[in-house]
Amino acid sequence: MSDRWLLRGAQILTCDPDFADLPRGDVLIEDGVIAALGPDLRVDNCRILELDGKLLMPGFIDTHRHTWQTPLRALGGDWTIMDYLAAVRVKLAPAFQARDLYAANLAGALEALDAGITTLVDYSHCIDSPEHADAALAGLEDAGIRALFSYGYAPGARESSALPTPASRMEEARRLRTTRLSSDDRLVRLGIALTEMQIPWESSRAELLSARELGVPITLHCSAWPVQGPSEIQKMAAEGLLGPDVLFVHCTWSPEEDLKRIADSGGSLSVTPETEMQMGMGFPITGRALRNGVRTTLGCDVVSSNGGDLFTAMRLALQVERAQVNAREGLPRALELKAARVLELVTRDAAEAIGLGRRTGSIRPGKDADLIVLAADALNMTPLNRPRDAVVLQAHAGNVESVMVRGRWVKHRGALLDVDLAAVRRRLLEARDAVLERVGGSATLLSEREELTKHWDTGSGLTPAKDAR
Ligand SMILES: [Zn+2]
Repeated sequence: MSDRWLLRGAQILTCDPDFADLPRGDVLIEDGVIAALGPDLRVDNCRILELDGKLLMPGFIDTHRHTWQTPLRALGGDWTIMDYLAAVRVKLAPAFQARDLYAANLAGALEALDAGITTLVDYSHCIDSPEHADAALAGLEDAGIRALFSYGYAPGARESSALPTPASRMEEARRLRTTRLSSDDRLVRLGIALTEMQIPWESSRAELLSARELGVPITLHCSAWPVQGPSEIQKMAAEGLLGPDVLFVHCTWSPEEDLKRIADSGGSLSVTPETEMQMGMGFPITGRALRNGVRTTLGCDVVSSNGGDLFTAMRLALQVERAQVNAREGLPRALELKAARVLELVTRDAAEAIGLGRRTGSIRPGKDADLIVLAADALNMTPLNRPRDAVVLQAHAGNVESVMVRGRWVKHRGALLDVDLAAVRRRLLEARDAVLERVGGSATLLSEREELTKHWDTGSGLTPAKDAR
C-alpha cells in the first residue's frame, strides 16, 4: 500500500497563487507528494493527523546559510565584517577537519528543520579536501533536510590544502556531479558557490562557466560593500553571463541599474538582514529589490553571529525596510511592504529562486509535501486574526510543532525524529573544542585583523562600508 497521510482540519496557508488559503481544510499526501487539498476530503486507507487549532503551511526556505559555522555559535556576536573575515575566513576555516564539518552540517541542518526550514542553500566555503566535501554533504543528508549543497570554490586557507588550485576544486565539484550528486531527484542536490570576486575576473568567469557546464544553480556574495570600478553584476552582464540560475547574496551597495539587470535576467537575491545590519554591509535592500522586480528571498547566513531561524529574518527584513521608508518620507500614510508579502519571500519565491519551484515552496497538488505545522493555538498566536501576519510578526521557532520533508516526518509533535540528539550535541561540542584548540583558543581569533585591514585598504581594490547609508 502506498504511504498516505491525511492532515485534517488545519487552517491552511497555501502560499500558492492558484490556491486560496483555507480557514479549515485537509491535505492528502501520497508517497511524499501532495495529492489533494480542500475542505472535508473523503479518503480511506490512510493515516490521519488531526490538526484542529493548528496552522499548516509550506516549509520555509533559507537561501543563504554557511551551515559549517554551527560550532562557532555566537562567537561573533560583536563582530564587524572585518572581524568576521579575520576570525572565521582566515583563522577558523582552515582549522576545520572533515569530521568537524560533518558535525556542523548535521547539527546546523537539524537546527534549521527544528525551526521549520525544510530547504536550505548551504553555502559551503570551507572545503579543503575531497573528504571535507564528502563529510559536509553527509551531514546534510543524515539530517533529512532538502538542500542545495553549494560547493564553495573559494580556496582553502590551509597551506597544505589538498585542493590548492581553482582547477582542482572544479574537478572536485565534477566528481560530486558525476557520482553522489548526479541526480536532481535527490533531496540534496549540487550547487556552486563562487569565490568572492576579489579574485581576477578571468577566474570568476571560469568558475561561472564550470557551474554552467555542470548544470547546477550558482550563488555568490555580491556588493556587500562599495565596489570601485565595474561591479560583478556589470561584468557578468557585459559578457552575457547573468541568468535565472544565479542567486546573488546581499547586494546592499548595488545601484538600481544592477538590480534591474538581475531582474531582467530572471536571477534572484538573498537578503540576510541580521548579518547585513550587524557587520556594516549597509541596510538590507528588500524593498528596493522588490520595487526593481528582483525575485527576493531571505537567509540566516551565519549562526557564528546571529539567529538560525527565518522568523527572525522575516521580522527584521520587514521592519528595517519600514523604518528606512518612514525615516525618508516621514509619517507614512500606508506601509508599502506588507507582512503577508514577506511570507512569500521564504516560501514560493525562494523555491523559484533556487530552481525548485515545481517541487516545493507552496501547498499545491503535485508538489512534494514539504510542510510545517505551527501551534496557532499557542498564546502568542491567539487569536489568529490575520494568520500570515501572525506568522511573520508573532510566531517563533518554538511554535513549530511538526515538520515534514517530502512526505517524511522529521519533527513530530515538538520532537525531532530518528535522531540521537545527545550524540549530535556531543559531536558538535567536540568539533567546537577541536577547532578552537587548533587555533590556540578563542583569545587569538582576531590576531590577524590588523594585517587583513591593511590588505583590505590597500591591495584589494575594495573599501569596507564606512557610511552604511
Ligand atoms: Zn554569506
